[in-house]
Amino acid sequence: MLLLPKFDYYEPKELTEACRLLSETGSKAKIIAGGTDILVNMKKGLISPKVLVSLGRISRLSEVERMNKSITIGSHLIIAKLAEFDLIRKRFSILASAAKVLGSPLVRNRATIGGNIVTARPAADLPPVLMALGAKVKLKSRRSEREVALDDFFIGPGATVIKPDEILTRVIIPETPSYTGGHYIKLGHRKALEIAIVAVASKITLNKPDGVIKDAKIVLSAVAPKAVHAKSAEEVLIGEKPSAKLFEEAASLAMNDCKPITDIRGGVDYRQAMVEILTRRTLSFAWKEAKKGKKQ
Ligand SMILES: Cc1cc2nc3c(=O)[nH]c(=O)nc-3n(C[C@H](O)[C@H](O)[C@H](O)COP(=O)(O)OP(=O)(O)OC[C@H]3O[C@@H](n4cnc5c(N)ncnc54)[C@H](O)[C@@H]3O)c2cc1C
Repeated sequence: MLLLPKFDYYEPKELTEACRLLSETGSKAKIIAGGTDILVNMKKGLISPKVLVSLGRISRLSEVERMNKSITIGSHLIIAKLAEFDLIRKRFSILASAAKVLGSPLVRNRATIGGNIVTARPAADLPPVLMALGAKVKLKSRRSEREVALDDFFIGPGATVIKPDEILTRVIIPETPSYTGGHYIKLGHRKALEIAIVAVASKITLNKPDGVIKDAKIVLSAVAPKAVHAKSAEEVLIGEKPSAKLFEEAASLAMNDCKPITDIRGGVDYRQAMVEILTRRTLSFAWKEAKKGKKQ
């Protein structure tokens, strides 16, 4: 069995202390949250940080708060808890359902929302849903703090705009208007412990229960170097009355809004065909929910 390389380990109780440690140790240090990704990479010898700074004792980073027409989730909230919070289940059921299909109970009880974002895997479960919800992230270093829309956060596989001395502290999701519905479908070979072959998150807002679509977001996962909006599909929906025919048109446009590769989990043609099917299905479910007036 592979052993972990040697490293110094810190468990600060305050965020300011964590920022200080990162700023003083520079590129030798790494944050550890749930450890489900970083420890695997360290065991494989892909990375060997000399210092690990844990966020586990900074209790504020596990809080969920409602403020200024948005919901703020601390980056250290474990994935299993995401699906348990009433506020999240009722307001953002699409996020709760993505959390439920991530990994296995063992992984969900360690992995955090911040870790799932910063890892920036092209097939990660939470980024597409959070992008469909219009989420932003707060990044803090010793000297500065900034907010970045998740749409602008990812650069490519494993790469983001976060700097080595920054900590992702919060995920901010704006409250959604009435008559909004959303749905997430992850396609895998198995029902658990499976990385998506293709996943689609769709969210639509109607102007009234039987009205037209005033906002639409469709985010595709595992079919490009990072999660991507199906832009032409989103555009064709705006101002239109929902119908099976309209969703078919959007779904066929979505196929060209992504650039899948062939790998062990699926080929290009299969992935594109699945984008079409999952886009159509997620839009139909989102519409059903939006008509009920439920906030997503
Ligand atoms: C068996 C198994 C199954 C899995 N299945 C899935 C799956 O189905 N879907 C899926 O999406 N993922 C899956 N994963 C991947 C992994 O569990 C997730 O990406 C997880 O959410 C990472 O979170 P973590 O808290 O464990 O991060 P860590 O491993 O602690 O950290 C990951 C990276 O993010 C950085 N980081 C973490 N938190 C912060 C922060 N707040 N600020 C700055 N940097 C930070 C770390 O420095 C590190 O580089 C699986 C992993 C395993 C081992």
